[in-house]
Amino acid sequence: MSNVDVYWYEIRNSLYMNVCNRCTLRCQFCPKTQGCNQVHQYDLSLGKQPSANEVIESLPDLLGYKEVVFCGYGEPTLRLKVLVEIARYCKKFGIKTRLNTDGLGNLVHKRDIVPELAEVIDSVSISLNAQNAELYGKHCKPQLKSAYYGVHQFIRRAVNYFNEVRVTAIEGLDGVDINECKEIAEDYGAIFVPRYLDKVG
Ligand code: SF4
Repeated sequence: MSNVDVYWYEIRNSLYMNVCNRCTLRCQFCPKTQGCNQVHQYDLSLGKQPSANEVIESLPDLLGYKEVVFCGYGEPTLRLKVLVEIARYCKKFGIKTRLNTDGLGNLVHKRDIVPELAEVIDSVSISLNAQNAELYGKHCKPQLKSAYYGVHQFIRRAVNYFNEVRVTAIEGLDGVDINECKEIAEDYGAIFVPRYLDKVG
Protein backbone atom coordinates (compact mmCIF):
# COMPACT_ATOMS: atom_id res chain seq x y z
CA MET A 1 0.00 0.00 0.00
CA SER A 2 1.32 3.46 -0.94
CA ASN A 3 1.81 6.24 1.64
CA VAL A 4 1.18 8.93 -0.97
CA ASP A 5 -2.39 10.18 -1.28
CA VAL A 6 -3.90 9.77 -4.74
CA TYR A 7 -5.71 12.99 -5.68
CA TRP A 8 -6.52 11.87 -9.20
CA TYR A 9 -6.49 8.67 -11.19
CA GLU A 10 -7.12 7.62 -14.77
CA ILE A 11 -9.77 5.33 -16.15
CA ARG A 12 -9.59 5.03 -19.91
CA ASN A 13 -9.33 8.61 -21.19
CA SER A 14 -10.92 10.29 -18.17
CA LEU A 15 -9.30 11.85 -15.15
CA TYR A 16 -11.02 11.00 -11.87
CA MET A 17 -10.66 13.39 -8.93
CA ASN A 18 -10.42 11.99 -5.44
CA VAL A 19 -11.01 15.02 -3.19
CA CYS A 20 -13.04 13.57 -0.34
CA ASN A 21 -13.17 10.25 1.47
CA ARG A 22 -16.18 10.98 3.66
CA CYS A 23 -19.84 10.45 2.94
CA THR A 24 -23.08 10.37 4.89
CA LEU A 25 -24.10 6.93 3.62
CA ARG A 26 -22.85 3.52 4.70
CA CYS A 27 -23.79 1.65 1.55
CA GLN A 28 -23.73 -2.05 2.26
CA PHE A 29 -22.56 -2.81 -1.27
CA CYS A 30 -19.66 -0.31 -1.17
CA PRO A 31 -16.12 -1.71 -0.86
CA LYS A 32 -15.29 1.24 1.44
CA THR A 33 -17.90 0.04 3.93
CA GLN A 34 -16.09 -3.32 3.90
CA GLY A 35 -12.78 -1.54 4.57
CA CYS A 36 -11.42 -1.54 1.00
CA ASN A 37 -10.47 1.77 -0.63
CA GLN A 38 -9.05 0.28 -3.81
CA VAL A 39 -10.31 1.18 -7.31
CA HIS A 40 -8.48 -0.61 -10.10
CA GLN A 41 -4.80 -0.29 -9.09
CA TYR A 42 -5.40 2.90 -7.05
CA ASP A 43 -5.69 3.11 -3.28
CA LEU A 44 -8.05 6.03 -2.69
CA SER A 45 -7.49 6.32 1.07
CA LEU A 46 -6.72 9.92 1.92
CA GLY A 47 -4.42 10.77 4.83
CA LYS A 48 -5.97 14.23 4.83
CA GLN A 49 -8.56 16.08 2.78
CA PRO A 50 -6.52 17.94 0.13
CA SER A 51 -6.95 21.64 -0.60
CA ALA A 52 -7.93 22.77 -4.10
CA ASN A 53 -4.41 24.10 -4.65
CA GLU A 54 -2.79 20.83 -3.62
CA VAL A 55 -4.93 18.95 -6.13
CA ILE A 56 -4.48 21.50 -8.92
CA GLU A 57 -0.70 21.56 -8.47
CA SER A 58 -0.57 17.77 -8.71
CA LEU A 59 -2.55 17.57 -11.98
CA PRO A 60 -1.06 16.28 -15.24
CA ASP A 61 -1.50 18.10 -18.55
CA LEU A 62 -5.29 18.20 -18.91
CA LEU A 63 -5.37 18.60 -22.66
CA GLY A 64 -5.10 14.88 -23.31
CA TYR A 65 -8.24 13.97 -21.36
CA LYS A 66 -11.82 13.59 -22.54
CA GLU A 67 -13.41 14.40 -19.20
CA VAL A 68 -12.72 15.19 -15.55
CA VAL A 69 -14.91 13.22 -13.15
CA PHE A 70 -15.38 14.01 -9.46
CA CYS A 71 -15.78 10.61 -7.89
CA GLY A 72 -13.77 8.51 -5.42
CA TYR A 73 -14.78 6.69 -2.25
CA GLY A 74 -16.43 9.72 -0.75
CA GLU A 75 -19.03 12.32 -1.63
CA PRO A 76 -17.38 15.21 -3.52
CA THR A 77 -20.11 17.72 -2.63
CA LEU A 78 -19.15 17.45 1.04
CA ARG A 79 -16.15 19.54 -0.07
CA LEU A 80 -18.15 21.89 -2.24
CA LYS A 81 -15.71 24.82 -2.29
CA VAL A 82 -12.76 22.61 -3.23
CA LEU A 83 -14.76 20.77 -5.87
CA VAL A 84 -15.96 24.03 -7.48
CA GLU A 85 -12.48 25.54 -7.47
CA ILE A 86 -10.89 22.52 -9.15
CA ALA A 87 -13.72 22.21 -11.67
CA ARG A 88 -13.40 25.91 -12.52
CA TYR A 89 -9.69 25.41 -13.13
CA CYS A 90 -10.36 22.43 -15.41
CA LYS A 91 -12.98 24.33 -17.40
CA LYS A 92 -10.33 26.87 -18.39
CA PHE A 93 -8.84 24.10 -20.55
CA GLY A 94 -12.18 23.47 -22.22
CA ILE A 95 -12.39 20.02 -20.66
CA LYS A 96 -15.79 18.47 -19.82
CA THR A 97 -16.60 18.02 -16.14
CA ARG A 98 -18.82 15.41 -14.53
CA LEU A 99 -19.89 14.90 -10.95
CA ASN A 100 -20.80 11.51 -9.53
CA THR A 101 -22.88 12.24 -6.46
CA ASP A 102 -25.15 10.64 -3.88
CA GLY A 103 -27.55 13.57 -4.46
CA LEU A 104 -27.49 14.62 -0.81
CA GLY A 105 -25.57 17.88 -1.24
CA ASN A 106 -28.60 20.09 -0.69
CA LEU A 107 -29.50 18.30 2.52
CA VAL A 108 -25.93 18.49 3.82
CA HIS A 109 -25.47 22.18 3.02
CA LYS A 110 -29.07 23.08 3.91
CA ARG A 111 -29.41 25.10 0.72
CA ASP A 112 -29.71 24.55 -3.02
CA ILE A 113 -26.17 24.00 -4.32
CA VAL A 114 -27.27 22.95 -7.82
CA PRO A 115 -26.94 26.39 -9.51
CA GLU A 116 -23.44 26.79 -8.06
CA LEU A 117 -22.40 23.37 -9.31
CA ALA A 118 -23.90 24.00 -12.73
CA GLU A 119 -21.53 26.93 -13.28
CA VAL A 120 -18.58 24.53 -13.50
CA ILE A 121 -20.02 21.03 -13.97
CA ASP A 122 -21.43 19.84 -17.30
CA SER A 123 -23.12 16.61 -16.30
CA VAL A 124 -24.08 14.74 -13.16
CA SER A 125 -24.62 11.14 -12.28
CA ILE A 126 -26.87 10.70 -9.23
CA SER A 127 -27.18 7.48 -7.23
CA LEU A 128 -30.84 6.75 -6.63
CA ASN A 129 -30.09 3.16 -5.65
CA ALA A 130 -33.65 2.09 -4.83
CA GLN A 131 -37.28 2.61 -5.82
CA ASN A 132 -38.42 3.48 -2.30
CA ALA A 133 -37.17 4.91 0.99
CA GLU A 134 -37.34 1.60 2.83
CA LEU A 135 -35.00 -0.19 0.44
CA TYR A 136 -32.76 2.85 0.22
CA GLY A 137 -32.48 2.77 4.01
CA LYS A 138 -31.67 -0.92 3.97
CA HIS A 139 -28.93 -0.72 1.32
CA CYS A 140 -27.47 2.75 1.92
CA LYS A 141 -27.89 3.26 5.68
CA PRO A 142 -28.20 7.07 5.44
CA GLN A 143 -27.06 9.13 8.41
CA LEU A 144 -29.26 12.08 7.36
CA LYS A 145 -33.00 12.21 7.93
CA SER A 146 -35.21 12.06 4.83
CA ALA A 147 -32.19 11.24 2.67
CA TYR A 148 -34.15 9.35 0.03
CA TYR A 149 -36.47 12.34 -0.53
CA GLY A 150 -33.40 14.55 -0.65
CA VAL A 151 -32.10 12.51 -3.58
CA HIS A 152 -35.41 12.92 -5.41
CA GLN A 153 -35.35 16.68 -4.87
CA PHE A 154 -31.78 16.87 -6.08
CA ILE A 155 -32.68 15.03 -9.30
CA ARG A 156 -35.65 17.33 -9.82
CA ARG A 157 -33.42 20.39 -9.50
CA ALA A 158 -30.55 18.92 -11.51
CA VAL A 159 -32.57 18.28 -14.69
CA ASN A 160 -33.21 22.03 -14.90
CA TYR A 161 -29.54 22.94 -14.69
CA PHE A 162 -27.23 20.35 -16.25
CA ASN A 163 -26.81 19.34 -19.89
CA GLU A 164 -27.01 15.72 -18.92
CA VAL A 165 -28.41 14.08 -15.77
CA ARG A 166 -27.92 10.36 -15.27
CA VAL A 167 -29.61 8.48 -12.49
CA THR A 168 -28.19 5.14 -11.42
CA ALA A 169 -29.16 2.04 -9.46
CA ILE A 170 -27.33 -1.23 -9.07
CA GLU A 171 -28.51 -4.40 -10.77
CA GLY A 172 -28.96 -7.36 -8.47
CA LEU A 173 -29.34 -5.65 -5.09
CA ASP A 174 -31.91 -7.47 -2.97
CA GLY A 175 -35.40 -6.08 -3.64
CA VAL A 176 -34.22 -3.30 -5.98
CA ASP A 177 -36.41 -3.12 -9.06
CA ILE A 178 -34.31 -1.68 -11.85
CA ASN A 179 -37.36 -1.00 -14.02
CA GLU A 180 -39.04 1.04 -11.28
CA CYS A 181 -35.84 3.01 -10.73
CA LYS A 182 -35.70 3.65 -14.48
CA GLU A 183 -39.30 4.89 -14.45
CA ILE A 184 -38.56 7.29 -11.59
CA ALA A 185 -35.50 8.65 -13.39
CA GLU A 186 -37.28 9.08 -16.70
CA ASP A 187 -40.31 10.72 -15.08
CA TYR A 188 -37.93 13.42 -13.90
CA GLY A 189 -36.47 13.76 -17.39
CA ALA A 190 -33.17 12.09 -16.51
CA ILE A 191 -31.35 9.26 -18.29
CA PHE A 192 -31.32 5.99 -16.35
CA VAL A 193 -28.10 3.98 -16.25
CA PRO A 194 -27.95 0.60 -14.50
CA ARG A 195 -24.72 -0.13 -12.67
CA TYR A 196 -23.06 -3.32 -11.63
CA LEU A 197 -21.49 -4.23 -8.31
CA ASP A 198 -17.72 -3.57 -8.04
CA LYS A 199 -17.57 -1.77 -11.38
CA VAL A 200 -16.26 1.80 -11.24
CA GLY A 201 -15.88 4.17 -14.19
S1 SF4 B 1 -21.91 7.09 -0.88
FE1 SF4 B 1 -20.41 6.19 -2.28
S2 SF4 B 1 -18.49 6.11 -1.11
FE2 SF4 B 1 -20.16 6.44 0.38
S3 SF4 B 1 -20.68 4.39 1.10
FE3 SF4 B 1 -22.07 4.86 -0.61
S4 SF4 B 1 -21.06 4.04 -2.46
FE4 SF4 B 1 -19.52 4.14 -0.81
